[in-house]
Amino acid sequence: MKLLITNDDGVYAPGIIALASFFAGRGNECVVVAPDRERSSVGHAITLNRPLRLWEVQSAHYPANCRAYACDGTPSDSVLLGLEEIMPEPDLVLSGINSGPNLGDDLTYSGTVSAAMEGLIHGHSSLAFSLDIREGGAGPHYATAAMVAGHIVDHLGDSPLPEGVLLNVNVPNLPVAELEGLRITRKGVRLYRGKVNRIKDPAGRECWWVSGRVEDRLEEGSDVWAVANGQVSVTPVHMDMTHFPSIDVLASGGLEKINFK
Ligand code: MN
Repeated sequence: MKLLITNDDGVYAPGIIALASFFAGRGNECVVVAPDRERSSVGHAITLNRPLRLWEVQSAHYPANCRAYACDGTPSDSVLLGLEEIMPEPDLVLSGINSGPNLGDDLTYSGTVSAAMEGLIHGHSSLAFSLDIREGGAGPHYATAAMVAGHIVDHLGDSPLPEGVLLNVNVPNLPVAELEGLRITRKGVRLYRGKVNRIKDPAGRECWWVSGRVEDRLEEGSDVWAVANGQVSVTPVHMDMTHFPSIDVLASGGLEKINFK
């Protein structure tokens, strides 16, 4: 298989090296095109106001049969350039393995998931992989996530993805033996409390640091719920953000009868 691999943690991040090494080790034709630095939470941004550069990376961390390129743009820029210049017809676009989960409303902020969206927009089957690493948690189990990715990709050989759908996969940060299986999930609700923190810079001037404490709504069947229960969550995601029931609700409410003249 021909695999175009990207991420939002940067080309030297351990997660993408684990993912590329795993699939290259199974004899797949792998090419990595990824940001030259961490670009987490840039969402689906592409770069229009300056030129982009792309260069091959010489890294002993990548296997000899996997070429890796750095791009000085975003994850979606990397997918664009990868498809345009390096691997025009991949069988799959893989994004990750992200350092940290992409659950609930992380989805639209996530460069990892957005890179898979970019692959999807260009007509390629695409998957995003994230490892539920938490601050102060156990050592990162990227090998678990790579193994999970291998199983899911194998399964897609017999049962391809529906057209226009990507998979957002989140893997508990556990040894393989401790995984509690896999659930097909829906996007859940994850809130960040105290998201904006007012602080002082060293000169005493006010500034703001965006972070926040995670608060998950653990509703059964959601991605946050599955991962909290030690299960791999697989959420099918499509690009159509239209809320169809509201079309009729808004129309019958008379919104279309506003007269602009
Ligand atoms: Mn990231």
